[in-house]
Formats: sequence, C-alpha cells, structure tokens
Amino acid sequence: MSTELFIEEASLEAIEASLQQHKQFFKSGVTRPLQYRKDLLEKFSTVIKNHETEIISALKKDLNKSDMEAYTTEIGILLEEIRFVLKNIDEWAEPKKMKTAKTHIGSKAYTVPEPYGVTLIIAPWNYPIQLALAPVIGAIAAGNTAIIKPSELTPTTSALLAQMINTHFDPRQLFVIEGGVETTQNLLKQGFDYIFFTGSVPVGKVVMEAAAKQLIPVTLELGGKSPCIVDETADIPLAAKRIAFGKVTNAGQTCIAPDYLFIHKSKKDEFITEFKKTVIEFYGTEPLKSDKFGRIVNERHFNRLTSYLDDGEILLGGNVDPASLKIEPTLMEPRDFSVPVMQDEIFGPVFPVIEYEDLDEVIEFVTERPKPLALYLFTSNPVTEERINGTISYGGGCVNDTLMHIVTPYLPFGGVGESGIGNYHGESSFSTFSHYKSILKQTTKFDMSFRYPSGRFGLQII
Ligand code: NAD
Repeated sequence: MSTELFIEEASLEAIEASLQQHKQFFKSGVTRPLQYRKDLLEKFSTVIKNHETEIISALKKDLNKSDMEAYTTEIGILLEEIRFVLKNIDEWAEPKKMKTAKTHIGSKAYTVPEPYGVTLIIAPWNYPIQLALAPVIGAIAAGNTAIIKPSELTPTTSALLAQMINTHFDPRQLFVIEGGVETTQNLLKQGFDYIFFTGSVPVGKVVMEAAAKQLIPVTLELGGKSPCIVDETADIPLAAKRIAFGKVTNAGQTCIAPDYLFIHKSKKDEFITEFKKTVIEFYGTEPLKSDKFGRIVNERHFNRLTSYLDDGEILLGGNVDPASLKIEPTLMEPRDFSVPVMQDEIFGPVFPVIEYEDLDEVIEFVTERPKPLALYLFTSNPVTEERINGTISYGGGCVNDTLMHIVTPYLPFGGVGESGIGNYHGESSFSTFSHYKSILKQTTKFDMSFRYPSGRFGLQII
C-alpha cells in the first residue's frame, strides 16, 4: 500500500508574500498586548476542540492512530499546554526586577520579555498535529506571529492543519504553508526572526546552516538513539510494561521512544516473558490485526525497519504485514554493535536487547556515542541512579518510567548535543520565543563624574 500521497510545493512568491504580510502585521504592534495573546490562545484552544473529530480521523488515515492515542498524545497535550500557559502567562510576561552593582548606585535594572517577531515552525510527521501546534502556543504566548510548515509525509493531517489554521485565523498572524523539502528550503532562505525546527539530526544541520547565514536564532528538537537501562534491582513486570508502552506507542515512531535496551544478564529472561505478556495485554495475541496498534508511516520506513530484522536473533515478535505497513512489537538480540539496528535511530517497534553484567560497560557505550534525547533507567538502587545521572549527559528522561517526562508542563523538554538545542513546554515555551531585553534605568538626580575622561572623583549633584 503506497501512502506517499503528493503534496504540492509552495511557490517562492507565495512564501515571500506571506512573510511580508507577517512582518507588517508584527511591526504594527497588534500582537504585543497580553490580552490579544490570551484571546488568541483561547481561540486556538476552541479551534482545536472544534476539530477533534477531523483530527482523529486524519491521524487514523495517516498513521492508523487509535482514537485514544490520538487524543492523549496529540489533542489532549495541546489543550493542557494552552490551559497551563493561560494560567501563568501574566507572571511570565512581567518585567523582572534585577539587582544593580555598587558602581550603578541610584539606578534600577530589569529584564523584560519581548517577542522575536515572525517565527517559522517546521514540523515532522510522527505526531503531526502536536508537534506542529505545540510550538505555536509558545510563539503566540510570547507575542510572535508564526508560519507553520507541516510534514509532507502525513498529507491528510497537513491538509487539515492548513484548513484549520488558514480559515480560522488572520493569515498575517498564523499561516500554514504546505510542502516538502523544496518549500522548506525556500522558507529557510527568508529573513525570519526565529526558527523552531522539530525533525531529524541531518535536517537539523541543514536548518542550522541556513539560519547561521542570517544569524537567525534557532531551537532544534532532534532525535537519535535513546537508551533504556534495566538493572538487577528493577521491578521487572512493571519495567516491562512501562518500556513496552514507550516502545509501542505510535508503533515506536516517537522521538523519545526507548531505542535499545541494556538489561542485567540475570533479568533478561524474565523481562522477555513480561514484555510478551504486556504485548498480549495491549494488543492480543495477533498485534498485526489490532486496530489499536499503529502502522508505519510509509513503505520506505517500513522497508528500512524490516531490514533490521536481519541484524540479529529475534527473541519475540518479528512478524510483519506489508499490506497494512505494520510490524509486530519485536525484541531482538543484535549480532554486534556495528549492525544498522545499533547504528541508526530505529523509530519503529523493533527493540534490540543487550545483556550486561557490569554497569561501567553500559556507561562507556552510551557516553562514547552522541548525547541522547532521552534516557530511561529502571532501578531501585539509588547508587545506580546517581552513577547514571552523574555520568551520562542526555536531554531528559525518567527513572522507572518512559515518555512521561514529556507530558508535564513543569519540565522543559529538549535535547543536548546532537539531540538538539534549546527546549520548550510550559514556561520554557514562553522563554524560547522571547528575547529578554535587559534595561538599566539610570538616575538623573546625580552623576558619577569620575567615569568621564575629564572626570574627578566624587558625585556631582544635578
Ligand atoms: P525530517 O528531518 O526528515 O523532516 C522534518 C521536516 O523537515 C519536514 O517538515 C520536512 O519537510 C523537512 N525536511 C526534510 N528534509 C529536508 C531537507 N533536506 N531540507 C529542508 N527541509 C527538509 O524528520 P521526520 O522524518 O519528519 O521526523 C523524524 C525525526 O524527527 C526523527 O529523527 C525524530 O527523532 C525527530 N523528532 C524529534 C522530536 C523532538 O521533539 N526532539 C519530535 C519528533 C520527531
């Protein structure tokens, strides 16, 4: 089944015209008042709520997401984020009083958040609604305008986003431009004030290079291989359930999905048994036939993922259905670390399992590779927790869980090193899309004459 529907590229003229409209609109100052931003966020929430049915059906078509998954991982996250921002925006937008040094006696200092201006938001296909719209919440809250470029690989969702946004909002404030690589590259040539990109590491480099040419600030939300570590003290049935949840949600097509597993040798067999039980509990004995289990986005990714099945011994699952683009939740033991499944970001329900005896080997393996976006540790030993978190750098993660760190608005979300630059969610979304202007308000009651070339020591009362 070919799912690669064609999305037309946007013309350069249309892109330039849209950008000019946004520039003018931002310059007019309309987007700055707090009440305007709040009203817009309320409307954003209403438009999402009014399109719930269409969103769910587009996600079904593009990714076979179940209704529940579509709601919890896309719609619900957005509505909760808007609610949280509306509750806190007054405080975040306030100027913050700062201290002044003794050399600045008589003066006052403060920082004030101001919008960057016209922002570009480029989204991937795996959570095509959430990842296109969550950054928009931050952009609006901070007083910016946004041009949004959804992924061409989820065409039904891309078309829905264009219809939802372009018919309900002032196109000078929010506008969706559909298209693929050419459109994105033309957008990247424009003079945006901020670029927020979510996607792969190689394209992140393309975005950063283009932004560097015009010194445009960026946030890069990228991917990579996120390790999962289960030690000998972990609660294995619970660990297996929570890891399976992280690996099978959206059929493993999640940037923070556990990519591969290091498990203590003494617990490997129990883990496989428990993982198997969990898969049956989630999807029955034939996951390929379950309507709750998502499909792979397209044939190219399906073929890439099925090729990994030759990279070692299958421990569980391994069945595939090319007609529905589905791959069973699969545990495998990789032949060695040089095989593609241990080199590429997997981004699917294939899970390499590697047994270990000495935690130092695990730390060595992870720290020799690019800094991961997420890391998941399952242990009941605080010493292990301290060793892992004290030695391995990663974007964010969980102890004794997977994925859940992304769904609290109190934690900033982002990568480090190759897994990304910057972060968002909650207050971080507001600060990401704000420039904090530093202002010193000097007294005019007296002057420090010694700082001038002609200066004498002492104060000069004015
Ligand atoms: P991608 O990098 O291929 O595409 C992302 C966007 O970039 C799309 O809108 C696409 O049209 C555009 N694009 C693709 N190739 C381009 C090029 N050569 N020049 C300019 N633009 C180009 O990523 P994807 O396949 O859509 O998404 C999967 C990747 O995204 C994975 O690596 C995953 O880990 C990562 N991801 C990260 C996060 C996060 O929050 N950190 C979230 C989701 C996905």
